[in-house]
Amino acid sequence: MTDCADRADRQDHDDGEAFRIPLSPTAQTTLDRHEAWMQRAIALAAEAGSRGEIPVGAIVVNERNEAIATGVNRRETDGDPTAHAEIVALRAAGRALGSWRLDRCTLYVTLEPCLMCAGAIVMARLGLLVYGADDLKAGAVRSIVNIPDCAASNHAVPTIGGILEAPCRELLQRWFRERRRSP
Ligand SMILES: [Zn+2]
Repeated sequence: MTDCADRADRQDHDDGEAFRIPLSPTAQTTLDRHEAWMQRAIALAAEAGSRGEIPVGAIVVNERNEAIATGVNRRETDGDPTAHAEIVALRAAGRALGSWRLDRCTLYVTLEPCLMCAGAIVMARLGLLVYGADDLKAGAVRSIVNIPDCAASNHAVPTIGGILEAPCRELLQRWFRERRRSP
C-alpha cells in the first residue's frame, strides 16, 4: 500500500542499509518476487529505450506468479498516443486470459502510471499494481493526483510503489540525458 510518510522516511535513509527494518521471511520472499519481476520490466524498458522510445516497461503476472503479458512504450513505433507500456501489457493480458477483468493479476511497471494508464488500471479491476519510480510530473497514482482513489473510480487498486526505484529512475534519467546530448 502506498504511504507517503513511510516513503519520505525511506528516501531519507536511502543510502543507509543499516536503517532497513528486517522483514519476516514471508515478506522478504514477497519483496524478492516483486524485485525479480521489476528487474524483468527494467530489461524490457531498456530495450525499448535503445529503439528510441521513452524507456518504460511493464509485465502482467497471474495468480500463479507466471508472466502472461508484457508491454513497452511503443508511442513512436506505432504512432499511437495510447501505446504506453501499461496499456500494451493490459491489452495483451486481456487477450491472453480471454477476459478484460484482471483482478487476479499483478501489473509491474517501471514508472508510476499516468492519467490514462491509471484509468485503464482501474477499468481492468487490477488485483495489484507494483511500480518503480514516482513520476513527479505526471504520476496519477500518488505524485500529482490519485486516480485509483478518486470519487470516479469504482475499484480500489492495491498499490506498492518504489520497488527498485533507483534503477528505474536512473534508466529514464540516463535516456533523457543521452537524448539531449545527441544532435
Ligand atoms: Zn501512461
